[in-house]
Amino acid sequence: MKITILSLFPEMITPILSASILKRAVENNSVEFNIVNFRDFSQNKHQTVDDTPYGGGAGMVLAVEPIFYALESIEGYKDAHKILLSPQGKTYQQEKAKSLLNHEHIILICGHYEGFDDRIRSLVDEEISIGDYVMTGGEIAAMAIVDSVVRMLPEVLGDEESYINDSFYDGLLDYPQYTKPREFKGMKVPDVLLSGHHKNIEEWRLKEKIERTKIRRPDLYDKYIKDNNNQ
Ligand code: SAM
Repeated sequence: MKITILSLFPEMITPILSASILKRAVENNSVEFNIVNFRDFSQNKHQTVDDTPYGGGAGMVLAVEPIFYALESIEGYKDAHKILLSPQGKTYQQEKAKSLLNHEHIILICGHYEGFDDRIRSLVDEEISIGDYVMTGGEIAAMAIVDSVVRMLPEVLGDEESYINDSFYDGLLDYPQYTKPREFKGMKVPDVLLSGHHKNIEEWRLKEKIERTKIRRPDLYDKYIKDNNNQ
């Protein structure tokens, strides 16, 4: 997979792409990252990429030209799946992360300033928000998407496909986990996990997943029950 990130602050992005699982994914050629600073595509001698809003009002607005020309400079940009990071987009979820795996090339556009010229919306395939809050720029949102997608690429996680046991993958939250010691200050590891009885452990884990989801995320629990009753 190829991921291109359009940003005015590459220095916010490179440390994240060069650590941990993302670093490993690059090293084993599962993913190729490309960062484009769209200031390089400014159309004026001061290299500005923003301007005051038509109609007046606070803050600066990201202009359409630098984004347009930056996109045009990217090899294969027409066929790439283009995403604009925006608090006004559809809220990002694991289902979307899974579906992004189907694209060979993803381009993420990080906004900045008060907002962007609305014509930028016509250059992309979709708008994604990572939650109902506003950040200064799209870089952190882009990194959340990159990390959640890349960890699901084949051969990226050490334990093959361990992500399928993570929260949300099957619509439920993950089960409780324990490691040594067996007892700490009176808090014990559930007996079933020490039993070595594989089937009982699996049944306990599923029961805990369902119970935990019911308590913490009734919205997910209701959907899970509905989906499973319809099967
Ligand atoms: N005035 C804009 C609005 O209310 O929709 C917010 C602009 S925000 C200060 C600047 C940039 O940060 C946005 O263009 C977007 O790229 C990014 N951003 C902020 N919050 C975000 C979120 N929740 N999800 C994705 N991107 C976000």
